[in-house]
Amino acid sequence: MARYTGPVCKLCRREGEKLFLKGERCFSQKCAIERRNYPPGQHGKQMQWRRSNDSDFSKQLRAKQKARRTYSVLEKQFRRYYKSALKAKGLTGQVLLQTLETRLDNVIYRMGFASSRAQARQLVTHGHFMVNGRRTDVPSMNIKPGDTIEIREGSKKKTFFKDLAEIAAERNAPEWISRDVKNLTGSILRAPERSEVEANLDEQLIVEYYSR
Ligand code: SF4
Repeated sequence: MARYTGPVCKLCRREGEKLFLKGERCFSQKCAIERRNYPPGQHGKQMQWRRSNDSDFSKQLRAKQKARRTYSVLEKQFRRYYKSALKAKGLTGQVLLQTLETRLDNVIYRMGFASSRAQARQLVTHGHFMVNGRRTDVPSMNIKPGDTIEIREGSKKKTFFKDLAEIAAERNAPEWISRDVKNLTGSILRAPERSEVEANLDEQLIVEYYSR
């Protein structure tokens, strides 16, 4: 289960917008986008100035990278998602976004049980969650309507989970998610509509990138 381990805020600065990869910090003045809103690197400020002249390829690449980084998916896995979306019924770009949204780590984040996708991913890899009654440590697991997600009984005693019900209750969950905050369980009712995918992503450009 390879994952990106480099500096996270750099990814937001590279895309020029908040990707909300660090939970609470993203809403504070400590956010790197608030403090240094230009691309990383020695020539970052000049690069930002050049951005208005971006080529079609550059726009497609940036759209793909932004989606990949938002959901913390590496290139190989992202391309695999694209290929399977290509074969599936429906609009390729939308199927791709639905695949990303229904990953276990994203669903847990959407349920409000984690402050970021990265945190959700860590909780899953540490074995705190069960899907359909079975413990899993695979954050990329695809969740289907009706699958139940719950926190392992043993994990509920841990400090992190003690106040989670209260914290999760203050976070909004989208309509395609069903959750019982008190018991920290939930499921998905259906795949999300395009309008329910919160991230500011351009799936058309992603499809164009891979169709070159
Ligand atoms: Fe991005 Fe969050 Fe870092 Fe801000 S704090 S740059 S939104 S990861």
